[in-house]
Parts: sequence; C-alpha cells; structure tokens
Amino acid sequence: MTARPTIYLETMGCQMNVLDSELVFGSLRATGYEPTDDLHRAGVVVINTCSVRQHAEDKVWSRLGQLKRSRGRNPDQIVAVIGCMAERDGESLLERAPMVDILCGPSELHRLPALIADVQARRERAVALSGRLRDHSTPVHTLAQHDDLESLDSGRALGLESHVAMPRVFGRHQAYVRITRGCNKYCTFCVVPYTRGPEVHRPADQIVDEVRRLAAAGVMEVTLLGQTVNHYHHVDATGRATSFAALLRRVHDEVPELPRLRFVTSYPRDFTDEALQVMADSPRICRYLHVPAQSGSNPVLKRMNRGYTVEQYLAFIDRARAAMPDVCISGDMIVGFSGETEADFAASLDLLRHCKYKNCYIFKYSTRPGTTAHDRLPDDVPEAVKRRRNNDMLAVQADISLANHRAMIDRVVDVLVEGPSKRAIQAQESEQDRGGEVASLDDRRAVFAGQLVGRTSGDQIVVFSGRADLIGRIVPVRVTAVTPYTMHGDLSGETDSGRPDHASGDQRPAHLSLAVLPSSCAT
Ligand code: SAM
Repeated sequence: MTARPTIYLETMGCQMNVLDSELVFGSLRATGYEPTDDLHRAGVVVINTCSVRQHAEDKVWSRLGQLKRSRGRNPDQIVAVIGCMAERDGESLLERAPMVDILCGPSELHRLPALIADVQARRERAVALSGRLRDHSTPVHTLAQHDDLESLDSGRALGLESHVAMPRVFGRHQAYVRITRGCNKYCTFCVVPYTRGPEVHRPADQIVDEVRRLAAAGVMEVTLLGQTVNHYHHVDATGRATSFAALLRRVHDEVPELPRLRFVTSYPRDFTDEALQVMADSPRICRYLHVPAQSGSNPVLKRMNRGYTVEQYLAFIDRARAAMPDVCISGDMIVGFSGETEADFAASLDLLRHCKYKNCYIFKYSTRPGTTAHDRLPDDVPEAVKRRRNNDMLAVQADISLANHRAMIDRVVDVLVEGPSKRAIQAQESEQDRGGEVASLDDRRAVFAGQLVGRTSGDQIVVFSGRADLIGRIVPVRVTAVTPYTMHGDLSGETDSGRPDHASGDQRPAHLSLAVLPSSCAT
C-alpha cells in the first residue's frame, strides 16, 4: 500500500486565517492528504500568513529560512505560502525565497489543491493572487475541486472528527463561520482591504444552513466572522435585504439547538441599536463584544480614518452597557501611530479606564507598505517610545482586567469547557499577540493534568479541575481566585436556571458531550 501524501499546515494571524486554514485543510484532506507535524519531511508545507504587522511577516521569513536549510533532504517537497503576505509581497517573495513553489492569496484559496497538483505534474511555480494590490495568476491546469471561494466555505467538512489535528486555537466544539469577506473601511494603517479585497457578504440562507449543520454535528459555539462583522448587509436576488441585526436574529431563532452564538470583530460606527436589542433579547447570543477603538485621541482617530470620534465611541460603549449591563467588551489599541503625542497617548489610557475592557489587544504601530499611512504619514514615534507606551498600556489594562475579575469572585459562571488548561492558556497568550503565530502543530501537544479550561459567555477564561469527559459541555463553576487574564474556580453543584447557557447546554446528546480530545488534536 502506498503511503498517503502528507501536509504540514501552519497558521499565523487572525481568526479569519484560522478559518481559512481549516477550510483549506478540509479540501486537501478530501483529495487524500494526511496531516503531519514534521515540517521537514512533509510532502507539502502550507504556511498561512499574516501581513498586519511586520512582526508576523518576520515569523514567516524565519520559517522559510528553516525550510531552505532542510530542502536538500526532501527535494520534492512543495512549499506553498498562502494568505495575506502572499498577496502583499507577490512575486518579490518568490525572488527572495526560491524554495517557494506556490503563492496563493486569501481570495484564491479554493484553487490550492489544483495549484499543488499542477506543481507536482509540471514542476513549475504556480501563482494565484487577486487582491487590490495585484491581480495575477498563472494558468491553472488541474480541475479545482471547489470552483469558487464561496464553495470553499459551503463545502466545509462537518462533524467533530473533521476537526482532529486541525490548526485551531480553541476546542473542537467551537467553530468559526464567515459571514463577510474583505473590508471597505480603509483605515490608513491597515493592509487588510488590500490583501483581502472588497467587502462581500454571504447569503443569509447559506450562513443559517452552515450554522445548523455545525450544531447538528455537535458544535456548541459558533463565532460569526467578518473584518467588520456588524457591517453585514446582504441583498438576495429578489431584492430582500438582511441586516446584521436580522441575521443575528435568524441564526439565533432558526438554530435553537446551538447553545452559544458569538461574532467578531465589530466596527464601532456600524453598531445599530437594533443589533444591540437583538443581542439583549436573545439568551443564546453571548454577552461579548470586540469593538476596537484604536486610539483615545480625536486627531489620531482622524489620521487613522476611523470615521468616529472618541465621544461617539464612548457613547456606543454606554449604549451597549445600557442594553446589556452584563456585557463584556474587549478592544484593540494601537500605540505610537504617526504623530501620536504624549497627550494623545494619555487620552488613550483615559479611554481604557472609561471602557473597563475585559481585555485589550495592544499593538505597536507597524507601518505597512501599500497603506495610506505608509505613503503619506511619517512613522515618527521612536521604537523605544512605542515600546514604553505599549508596556504602560498593558499595565493599565492588567489593573482593569484584574479589577473586573475580582468582582467575579464567589460568583457561579457557566463555562463551555474547551480542553486541558495548558493548551487553551497558550492559545490565549497567542491571541493576546494577534498577528503572531496562532498555533503550530508542535505547540498543540498538551498533557491533560486534570485541569480544564473554558470560557464564559462573556469570553472570560476559567481554569478548574475536572474530568476530561466534561470537555464540550457547559458547566457551572464557582470563581475562587483570579489573575488579570484568568479566573480560577471549582465545579459547582449549583445550577441557576436563569442563566441562558443552562437552558440548552446540558441538553446535548450524551455521545457528543462525552467526546474526548485526542492528544494530537489541535487547539
Ligand atoms: N477589522 C478590524 C478593525 O480594524 O476594526 C481589525 C483588523 S486587524 C486584522 C486587527 C488589529 O490589528 C486592528 O484592530 C489593529 O489594532 C491592529 N493593526 C492593524 N494594522 C496595524 C498596523 N499597521 N500596526 C499595528 N497594529 C495594526
């Protein structure tokens, strides 16, 4: 019997990349590939890249350097660089990294199996790029299994088993579902509109159907994804429009068997009262919002082209908390953007203190070629100042997060158990550093030591002792101790029928609730 071809898939960057990797992996598995965690012996290496910050690109170059050194031992190995960096760098990446055989942008991922087959058959490089920076593809000779990008999403492999060894940052009982591709916002610092192309919204029926099928396969929590997820607006062939609020209501009401529904990332200006009301009315929509502010200074927000003022952002936070007093909110902030003064930075700290975020992803500004800021605004805050502001802001946020967590001590929270604690804490650390490597196969080995980790509806991380058969279930945990990033607790015998998770969480069929993560499972 001939051995099946192997694939090593590594994912850097955001949730969108994690989902892209899952879909690409599914389509390659369908053509016979087996996963491997051996970078050097794999038949095909796929690196799903991120371009949001230079740091993320540096990691890819380091991985390519490793591959170059080991190429002699595996001369037939095919190396594919996919995702945002492939799109942004284009052929210049091929010049600098001669061992790369395939470049495939985020809008062309449905072609990857065909591109790999082409390279195997012809030993010629294959390129498929189509963002706003370039539109260049070599001819595809092999018939693609998926004929368009949309079919990559709708053709996803379902069922808990399809998640085994997948590059994921969370448990097998959670899934991402894309509702919008691309971005039209053109924030001056951001490369995403150029690498992922213009906003395209998926039909609401397809989204509801995908969520329904995931729930039927045992998924407990679905996260709807979009760069500006709440800007969703789809008009079907009959002219019927679906807003984000209407989509949320549909998914919630039409898939009652799904215990938890979330969405990221929201754009502050696009949040309607109607969407907040749907959240408030819908017990299975998680009490969690991720709404990046980026800065607490109006002049900086203007230079960033964010399209709102600090006052408007804070008014939104107040509206959200008025509609859902228990909502947890997280943010993104950039420090050291072009022209940011000490006074601007102090205003950002004030915004943090006002918003009392659950957590905040803090980034040092990294100028990105191709963006407006790179072309028109000087990167004039010295690196040492960026680093100091980054550390100061992390310290302020740590105090806020700790105070938020302390208020939870002695309370019983409902936790969706994701897996052994070590793994998810690693995942959280990578999340804190989004734009970096999310998870590599090597990182995803975890030893179960009786400690479990899960998340509340508000996305707070909870660690507690429990049996592995609780993985994939929603259980009540009494919070006993806290750090800024984690709450620790004990399984509680108490149930609080008023809590929405309990309305459905424990009603899952037993065979789904009892699924145990194999140690090689990627989370
Ligand atoms: N679409 C979302 C938004 O802006 O509302 C997030 C997109 S981006 C993939 C995730 C985060 O990376 C942003 O919210 C921003 O804080 C950060 N980011 C984007 N471009 C950056 C840059 N050039 N330098 C530093 N951080 C950046």
